[in-house]
Amino acid sequence: MNNSKKYEEIHNKISWFFVITGYIFILAHDIYNAGYNVIPNNFIKITQYLFITLLGMLIKQHIERKQSIDGFLYYVKIIIEVVFLIIAIVIFGLGELGYFYMLLLIITVTLSKGAKPGWFLYISFFSIKLLFNIINFYFLNNGYFLLSDSNNFFHQFSFTASFHIIYVFLIFLCSKIYNDNMKSEEENQKLVKELSEKYDLLAVAQEESKYQYEKLKETNIKLEETNNKLTASIAEFYTLQQISQAISSILDVKELLRFINDVILGVLGVNNTTIVLYDEKRNRLKVHTTNIKDQAELIILKDNINCEILLNALCNSKPILDNFVDPDDYPFVAGREVNSLICVPLTTKTRRFGLVIVEHKYNNAFDDNNVRLLDIIGQQVGIAMENAELYQKMQEMATIDGLTGVYNRLYFTERLKTELENAKKGEYQLSLAIFDIDHFKRFNDTFGHLFGDKVLQSISNTVKASLRSTDILARFGGEEFIILFPYTNLEEAYEKVEILRKKIANTQVKDEYITASVTVSFGISSFPVCAFTEADLISSADDALYQAKAAGRNCAKVANKL
Ligand code: GH3
Ligand code: MG
Ligand code: MG
Repeated sequence: MNNSKKYEEIHNKISWFFVITGYIFILAHDIYNAGYNVIPNNFIKITQYLFITLLGMLIKQHIERKQSIDGFLYYVKIIIEVVFLIIAIVIFGLGELGYFYMLLLIITVTLSKGAKPGWFLYISFFSIKLLFNIINFYFLNNGYFLLSDSNNFFHQFSFTASFHIIYVFLIFLCSKIYNDNMKSEEENQKLVKELSEKYDLLAVAQEESKYQYEKLKETNIKLEETNNKLTASIAEFYTLQQISQAISSILDVKELLRFINDVILGVLGVNNTTIVLYDEKRNRLKVHTTNIKDQAELIILKDNINCEILLNALCNSKPILDNFVDPDDYPFVAGREVNSLICVPLTTKTRRFGLVIVEHKYNNAFDDNNVRLLDIIGQQVGIAMENAELYQKMQEMATIDGLTGVYNRLYFTERLKTELENAKKGEYQLSLAIFDIDHFKRFNDTFGHLFGDKVLQSISNTVKASLRSTDILARFGGEEFIILFPYTNLEEAYEKVEILRKKIANTQVKDEYITASVTVSFGISSFPVCAFTEADLISSADDALYQAKAAGRNCAKVANKL
């Protein structure tokens, strides 16, 4: 609440108090003087006087309620009050009430607006009062000139003068209070201004810190993103490193694929991983490795894996990423809880080996990064499989005889060594037979070398078909073959050899023009009855063969027992 309003309110309250107490006092005085049954003149006079002043106050208060009492309206309000007071004085003459009321007004104005308006009000009021008094005195001859009722002029004058001195003193005093208030208000305003400046600075600083905070937040988010990417890259790098290590250390393709299946399962945190291999000749896909254990699920997977969508993915070497799997598109997930899947081919530039399929039971489980990683893994595994295939071919070339498809001498010698060691450790017998085609030189001369080769192939096939999987057949040289029979004694070996010999003799080799057959001679030796070492086994069998040849060929001879 500002000062003007504060003083104005005090003024109003005092006015009401002053008017009511004055009214009661005068009423009581007149009743006392005039008697109880007479309506006193002064009562009517005062009632009218108060009615007019109160009307002025009500109008003034109405303005106050509607508007601020500062500025122009303040003066309008004062003027209304003064005008009503003057009207009251003009009609009823100036009594003590008028004086006090005016005094109150002057004090309020001086306190609220300073000395100037106070002086102005004081001078205007007393000029008008003086004017009325002169009019009264000279023209109406109504000697109500001064305030006091005393007939003594000096008494009247001193009373009135002291009254004016009080007025003047109060104006000074009130203007001083006003000035002090103004000063402190100015200081307050200055302080408020400074404070608001500080507040503005604070707001700017706050705005700046908010901006910095937002920037920091943004940087944090970026940092987090980079961190996540880095973590993902490290995980990727680690996975690929593990896989390339496995590729270089695991020679067996089956084992390698099982390992890779496990790595993918662990790294991607998926529900299922399956490696499917492609049979190029039959154009068929077949489940090779999977972590799925549930038999019912496994049957669905295996029975439906050879589907068009997977064959197409393999043919086009195009990965599949589906985060909303429809079982109609993928028959191998029908009835299984699979909602997202990735499928990447295991291919090289020249070969298609199969596919890796990863599955998740939730929708939206995968993104392009997963596909990219699996694709890299797929390519690496493809290369590893191609290498393994080449390695297998080389291995075969090194161990298998090119013409007949049976083992070669080198391989046989190595196997003989280990088999003999096993036999010694396991304390079981093994036998060895060497056979040589009879008069093959002549045969070649008669039917040609090419037909001779065909005979070599035919004999190999016939013998191989008759042997057990544990027996080992090898081409020992030109038209000489060697057979190792583990867990077989000399007599059993002889029986087997006799069957073979007869089979060979009864096998006719044919081509477009020629039909012919050959006989073979066998020499048999056995561990431990005929020999103890590999060399002795071979040489004793060879001796026996020599004996068979000497005995007229197409027969089998056993080595001498030790
Ligand atoms: P035998 O063994 O009964 O004493 O008489 P043979 O005529 O078979 O004599 P030998 O075992 O010494 O014969 C070797 C012949 O085998 C010589 C060669 O013409 C033939 N031969 C060796 N290797 C091959 C081959 O890879 N293809 C063909 N067609 N013939 C071969
Ligand atoms: Mg020979
Ligand atoms: Mg021969």
